[in-house]
Amino acid sequence: MSNEKPVFIVDAMLGKLAKKLRLLGYDTAYSSDIDDEDLIRIAKNENRILITKDVQLARKAEKKQLKAIQITKSDEVEQFLQINQKIKLEKYEINGKNSRCPVCNGELENIEKNKILDKVPKGVLEYNQNFWMCKNCKKIYWEGTHIRNLQKFTEKLNDRL
Ligand SMILES: [Zn+2]
Repeated sequence: MSNEKPVFIVDAMLGKLAKKLRLLGYDTAYSSDIDDEDLIRIAKNENRILITKDVQLARKAEKKQLKAIQITKSDEVEQFLQINQKIKLEKYEINGKNSRCPVCNGELENIEKNKILDKVPKGVLEYNQNFWMCKNCKKIYWEGTHIRNLQKFTEKLNDRL
């Protein structure tokens, strides 16, 4: 299923965009400390689409037959629209099951409430029913603020698509 989705690598200047892509379920490589050569090497080896603010880097990647998207906008909705111009993204839909860990890009899986009683604040347990854990870094997520903020973001975005 995730194989059909485009996969990305995002340059160090676009950390917030990388997190959003992960939350929206896109496999997105990102490091805040990575040089151009590594970005290109990983994009090539893993067949990832390079997203960058750096026009030189975008050209360099394209010369090597890699797909690259150059971001010129600073507004996040506009940035997604720029991606969408080059690669038709599927309708934005928030679903904890599809999301990836914004911290490490790991896949999330459902976890039963009673298994995380000591790992989540009491108030959160009381008011939420669905929880997910990152398979990789074990961070726990729930349908709280991050999903709600993302929902607002995608509503804005979907209006423009
Ligand atoms: Zn993680």
